Amino acid sequence: MAEEKLNFQAEVSKLLNIVIHSLYSNKEIFLRELISNASDACDKLRYIALTQPDILEKNTEFRIILEPDKTSRILSVSDNGIGMNRDDLIDNLGTIAKSGTEAFLNQLTGEAKKDMGLIGQFGIGFYSAFMVSEKVEVITRKAGEDHGWRWISDGNGEFTIDKEDIPIERGTKILLHLRKDNDEFLDGYRLRTIVKSYSDHITLPVMLIEDDKNEQINSASALWTRPKSEITDEQYKEFYHHIAHAVDEPWSILHYKAEGAIEYTSLLFIPNQKPFDIFHPDRKQHIKFYVKRVFITDDCSELLPSYLRFIRGIVDSQDLPLNVSREMLQHNQMLAKIRTGLIKRVLSELKKKSEDDENNYQIFWKNFGAVLKEGIYEDFERRNEILELSRFVTTASDEPISLNTYLSRMKDGQEAIYTISGDEIESIKKSPQLEGFVAKGIEVLLLTDPIDEFWPGAISSYQEKQFRSVTYCATDLSKIKSNENVDEVKVSEGDMTSLINIFKLILTDHVKDVRSSNRLIDSPVCLVAEDGDVGLHLERILRQHTQTADKKRALRILEINPSHPLIRRLADSATSDDAINKLTDSAWLLFDQARIIEGEVLSDPMSFANRLSKILEKIS
Ligand code: ADP
Repeated sequence: MAEEKLNFQAEVSKLLNIVIHSLYSNKEIFLRELISNASDACDKLRYIALTQPDILEKNTEFRIILEPDKTSRILSVSDNGIGMNRDDLIDNLGTIAKSGTEAFLNQLTGEAKKDMGLIGQFGIGFYSAFMVSEKVEVITRKAGEDHGWRWISDGNGEFTIDKEDIPIERGTKILLHLRKDNDEFLDGYRLRTIVKSYSDHITLPVMLIEDDKNEQINSASALWTRPKSEITDEQYKEFYHHIAHAVDEPWSILHYKAEGAIEYTSLLFIPNQKPFDIFHPDRKQHIKFYVKRVFITDDCSELLPSYLRFIRGIVDSQDLPLNVSREMLQHNQMLAKIRTGLIKRVLSELKKKSEDDENNYQIFWKNFGAVLKEGIYEDFERRNEILELSRFVTTASDEPISLNTYLSRMKDGQEAIYTISGDEIESIKKSPQLEGFVAKGIEVLLLTDPIDEFWPGAISSYQEKQFRSVTYCATDLSKIKSNENVDEVKVSEGDMTSLINIFKLILTDHVKDVRSSNRLIDSPVCLVAEDGDVGLHLERILRQHTQTADKKRALRILEINPSHPLIRRLADSATSDDAINKLTDSAWLLFDQARIIEGEVLSDPMSFANRLSKILEKIS
């Protein structure tokens, strides 16, 4: 077959362009990335060989070799792992399969330093080779196949693929034709230092071949099997960077060995930064699963629930058989027990951290609170534990507070934990439904995460206090006492009966009811939902997603503020003979205004505009 010339996927070209032209100071990380890939390639083949031992063709000792050649100025990195065939090369080294790539690339600013920071978080893996190389060659043969392939590129838009004529070893050899000024990566001492600091924990031997001497330069013992006391913070950090493809410091490290009925070791990390794809719909968790130090899979959804998907790390089981298949891992009793153990550890670590240092806990909460809260809805058994760990911004506190703090600040006579939900804190703070609460000093939780629409309805209470949305009707504020230093709101109610009846007539079929309210202070009207109906904000979300037809909307209750001057004036004219005629425009304008405040799109904006003009005409 003749040499094929192919183009990189546009996203890859964009990324490579940044990588090649960046003046990144930490260039040596390319070696960590290539060694990491080589180690993964060996892990993959070792796993396959558990059930197909012949595939190893007597080449059974997995290792990674670094070979600098000062004459040709080439550094090679080779492994005897799974290797790649033509299709693999095109798929793996020509495209980026990662979810969220496009969104990520759109964030790049063109400012080299900032962009490299972001790229570090995203993880460029193999492509980092171009930071130090003017040309990269990949010579590879896939396990179980006869022919090898050679992939070549200078990183500028294209690569070539050619079939190898001569037999080559199984696995992958990457030849880096180093750029000028990168001779440091041909120096054995420098390579040793890099491997020691970034890749010491790689479980395979990393060999350095220099001047015909062949020497192992990492310790090649699985980090998690060593006692905690022998592991430095630096080593934990590097291991975290390796398995999580991360660049931050871990926020928390949980390393422990479970002994007894089931035996396993786990080394888990809670990141300090939010991964860019944490809200990807697949909600996949990120734990690498090993059996007796042999890597089995990094795709085992049984190990942790989705609401802990921010955790990175490994779990190594002593009990499962080595030849465990991925199918066997589903509905496995042993894994279910490990899962229970892991959840318990993570939640109790979070509890401890929150008790030790609330400020530090807030860092975690801002990154992952919205994810952890999914557990309130999904994990019935641990609901209370997660509620206790949850933090909320409220009408009285911009810093998120715990529910226990909320309870301690409840007013005499207050029976419920009040909530309001919406898209943005700043806009929900202005909701008319909150006015009475704020005036009386009653704190309300401001909920803005998507999951917040679901859990308050699904759980009845916390510490025997029910969650109640202030946008529902059954809230009687008169029973709750104000702060001593806050003036009791004086509601001088005129007779609202006639006005209410007339509004009901005018708005028949458009509202469920019209009522006088004690939750309004400055606004003349607001909409609330009847208990049992879908909430105002949830309905808006559902509408955005499913474009629910207008007629399917739940009818709302229009509440009017009996102490508002406008409402009182309207009430005065409600007893006259042609009250209906006189009040029609006002009723509709007030109703439409309440709908606009709720973020609704008016079904008849033209009538709204006409009525408004009519009234403006009268006053001008
Ligand atoms: P990542 O490792 O994050 O998937 P990379 O860009 O580093 O991203 O690598 C892309 C893919 O190329 C890998 O997922 C793997 O399938 C393949 N690959 C890279 N290096 C090797 C190697 N040494 N042996 C076999 N496959 C490899």
